[in-house]
Amino acid sequence: MTFITDLLRLFYPELCINCNNILTNNENLICTFCRHDLPLTHYKNYSDNKVAKIFNGRVTIENAHALLLFKKEGITKKIIHHLKYKGNQKVGMFFGNWLGSVLKKDSGFSKIDYIIPVPIHKNKLKKRGYNQVSKFGQRLSIHFKKEFLENLLIRDSMTTTQTFKSRLDRFKNTETKFSLNKSLNTEKYKNKHFLVIDDVVTTGATLEACAKELQKIEGAKISILTIAYTE
Ligand SMILES: [Zn+2]
Repeated sequence: MTFITDLLRLFYPELCINCNNILTNNENLICTFCRHDLPLTHYKNYSDNKVAKIFNGRVTIENAHALLLFKKEGITKKIIHHLKYKGNQKVGMFFGNWLGSVLKKDSGFSKIDYIIPVPIHKNKLKKRGYNQVSKFGQRLSIHFKKEFLENLLIRDSMTTTQTFKSRLDRFKNTETKFSLNKSLNTEKYKNKHFLVIDDVVTTGATLEACAKELQKIEGAKISILTIAYTE
């Protein structure tokens, strides 16, 4: 901590995003009390846990993990709200550093080649100004020393012609929301292991769609990592 940041903290103290208590110099984002209260999933087996089970019979994945449990009310919901709707990208950095430092030692996750965020819709990107998992991915990338690849997967944007399609066609369309970026040479990505990341996993439909699209690349392997998991 430099003198300037010390001084800034004196006049503009940083507050815990959960309880609003003033953070000490050693604390970041969440105070020590709230940090101890975080509902951790405590998964140790990454190929067989509740997150991995979501994808059973739907898409083949190598490893899956989520750090926190997401409940209707509580600290995780508050944290994710800060990340998605209050522009607090420190949340992504905080959990990227946390999971990156823990998982880089694990053999399953340490075998990944690329980190891929679930792309957000162009309109949402415009409104929010950032993909809420970008900072999370960038921090993971530093820890894993693997490339964070933001443009391999593209979220298909709704075109005006789709408005006139039948309801059935539109329903089909919601199932295939992502596509590989055709301007990239996917040959380069053959037989690579992709870590697909998102903030929260609930039904797994979005991550499943992303995984299936990436598996169009020959020999692609998929692992999944999210900050939180909805039970
Ligand atoms: Zn607190």
